[in-house]
Amino acid sequence: MRPAVTLPPTAARVNAVGPSPVREILALTARPEVINFAGGLPAPELFDAEGLRAAYDRVLAEDPQRVLQYSTTEGDLDLRTAVAARLTARGLATGPDDLLITSGSQQALTLLAVALLEPGDVVLVEDPCYLAALQCFGFAGARVVPVPTDEDGIDPAALAEIAERERPKLLYLVPTFQNPTGRTLTAPRRREVAELAGRLGFRIIEDDPYGELRYDGQPVPWIATDPAAADRTALLGSFSKVLAPGLRLGYLRAPAELRRACVIAKQGADLHTSTVDQAAAARYLRDNDLDAHVATVRAAYRERRDALLGGLAAALPPGSRWNQPAGGMFVWASLAGGLDATELLATAVKHEVAYVPGAPFFVGDPDRGALRLSFITQGPDVIEEGLRRLAKAIEEHG
Ligand code: PMP
Repeated sequence: MRPAVTLPPTAARVNAVGPSPVREILALTARPEVINFAGGLPAPELFDAEGLRAAYDRVLAEDPQRVLQYSTTEGDLDLRTAVAARLTARGLATGPDDLLITSGSQQALTLLAVALLEPGDVVLVEDPCYLAALQCFGFAGARVVPVPTDEDGIDPAALAEIAERERPKLLYLVPTFQNPTGRTLTAPRRREVAELAGRLGFRIIEDDPYGELRYDGQPVPWIATDPAAADRTALLGSFSKVLAPGLRLGYLRAPAELRRACVIAKQGADLHTSTVDQAAAARYLRDNDLDAHVATVRAAYRERRDALLGGLAAALPPGSRWNQPAGGMFVWASLAGGLDATELLATAVKHEVAYVPGAPFFVGDPDRGALRLSFITQGPDVIEEGLRRLAKAIEEHG
């Protein structure tokens, strides 16, 4: 018998970062009986499967040798041209060469972390913050420093003070319909953030997967449109919430030197995003009216948001608070009466309803009563039933 050898352990950073609590909860709640306010899963019945199938059929029939081949790291020119036109129409003049197509906008976060961060660099984040961004910055060895937020997003006064002290390299923001809170940073605050970035010399990641899912009010201009921040802001977008997340298609719009650094990082990650998926998406955008599809999705999600908001008062303990997001996927609530949302979850799952406790999203002191409720996956009737189950779980939990 050969003597047993001990294999080298996995890298310490994997344990240090740890698994995503949200994805673990998703596994726990995958049973079809469970009414799911947990994952931000786009409504599957609204996927335009026919349109996408036609687009795949066409590119595979008409151009198989190209769409099944390796392709450039920057991404499909037709797709970049279509995305650039959409960004330009929304107020941010963009050409195809300003863009890098990524495998989901999640990959753009990884590429930016690889391209920008040295171990120990400071990254400022909203508190609470999108979890998988924290994982990316953790893998890069960054020191993540939380900045307080309120109903209008990140607090500019606190940001100024923390940025003066910490001299961050980067500020990560989801300014519109944030994950997990659904909050939107106001236009005056965007101005302040841009000016601060200009004055103190940090970069901004403006992560915007939800901006097109607006149910009320007027769009607020991207920070990337502000002259003070234009040369230091990377804007991320995604097809996940407006078309289908399984496509894994996103994009990064960044100033030339940063985009080139991300192209190098992407070569080491996956060479390029799937050629056939990009070609099919470009073809879909040519043959279909994505805006009309998004309008249908918006109308359905608005109704679902209203169903959730309409039922929360009866479901949560008196004195609980929650917001009224103008778009996106999430309502952020805080349970009254000292209830701990993490402890309550086991009882909720027993009653076949699930949500995500708020605590893991905090880098600083968590609000233990906080929870994130996604309203997009199921129709109003199911949402109402889910809230009845949640009320029973709260009653039983005591
Ligand atoms: N950023 C934020 C804020 C998100 O909520 C998500 C998805 N949950 C992503 C990025 C990643 O989305 P995708 O990779 O599907 O584009």
